[in-house]
Amino acid sequence: MSNVVLEKVSRKFGEFAAVNEIDLRVAEGEFVTLLGPSGCGKTTTLRMVAGLEQNTSGRISLGNEVVSDAASGVFVPSERRRLGMVFQSYAIWPHMTVFENVAYPLRVRRRPLAEIRDLVSRSLRLVEMEGFSERPAPALSGGQQQRVAIARALVFEPKVLLLDEPLSNLDAKLRLQMGDEFRAIQRRLGMTTLYVTHDQSEAMALSDRVVVMDWGRIQQVGAPEDIYRYPANRTVAGFFGNPNLLDASVEACARLEGGRVQLDVVGHGWQGRCEAATEVQPGQTVTVMVRPEDIRIAPAGTDKDGLRWSGRIAHTIFRGPTRSIVVEIEDGRLNVDAPAFGGYSVGDNVTVVVPRHAAWAVG
Ligand code: ATP
Repeated sequence: MSNVVLEKVSRKFGEFAAVNEIDLRVAEGEFVTLLGPSGCGKTTTLRMVAGLEQNTSGRISLGNEVVSDAASGVFVPSERRRLGMVFQSYAIWPHMTVFENVAYPLRVRRRPLAEIRDLVSRSLRLVEMEGFSERPAPALSGGQQQRVAIARALVFEPKVLLLDEPLSNLDAKLRLQMGDEFRAIQRRLGMTTLYVTHDQSEAMALSDRVVVMDWGRIQQVGAPEDIYRYPANRTVAGFFGNPNLLDASVEACARLEGGRVQLDVVGHGWQGRCEAATEVQPGQTVTVMVRPEDIRIAPAGTDKDGLRWSGRIAHTIFRGPTRSIVVEIEDGRLNVDAPAFGGYSVGDNVTVVVPRHAAWAVG
């Protein structure tokens, strides 16, 4: 397995930069996901690593080898990069058996038959499909086909595995199950993996690190927990889940232990305390992100060290494990995830609170 390094990599189509000066290092054995809205440049980035698309500037390396360098003109073709690929469009071939599907990359490489048999059965064993080798591909479930596609990508021991929305053809339940299974296989084999999805929950569940992209640029790179909790800007904050984003003005700023800062902020009809990554000058405006699951409907007088609003319950939706509550406040609405059977009714006047550490300000 190898690491993957992108240095100032861009891909222009005419004047339009689909990918704009991306720097990224994927360590050996790491699972990194490119996440972002449709058209943000995820697939183009993956295709450049795959060698299916040529970068118009910058450099891409796999392990110790520079595989594409726009300045010097080096370009190693895709078939010589030793990459395993599972693309959405890379469905397994219906006219072949499972064995023939998985053997295909080895046949193309003209490996001897005995070796092909060995490698195919090992690869099928890895995805727990060893009993299926003579099955015609159409006689498999969606999840089994997915496993065969992964086995085919693994069969020639690739340096790096590239996956573009590999679970998108599956229904929601199978998607979860296959995601978990795939992550387990990836961990066991220690495969360096670059994965593309626009599904934030898939990205969070699978990845060691997530790269959030927008308009061809990287917005933030980090562990899923950090990106969810401490987004770098409003775009990233809004992209994960369904957070409340409130405009506020900063009154005071103080350093906290561990590098973060504490802000005293004032909004329309509310005020309180939140945290931020770096110092903000008094008078500046910020966006305060508060997640619905961190808000509590509370009796008066609690949680002074945080934010609080007075409001009225406008709407509730029963969701099974929780109840979504919309609270009307002076300058808008707050989405709150409350216990399903908390006894709240439309029209109730309530105070809602969030502790300081769960209210995050971005510029
Ligand atoms: P999706 O999730 O919809 O697949 P994406 O994030 O993978 O989106 P890309 O497929 O990388 O996005 O496309 C990024 C941008 O580059 C888009 O605006 C797209 O229209 C543009 N683009 C991609 N390929 C070409 C091409 N061959 N010629 C011109 N523009 C292109």
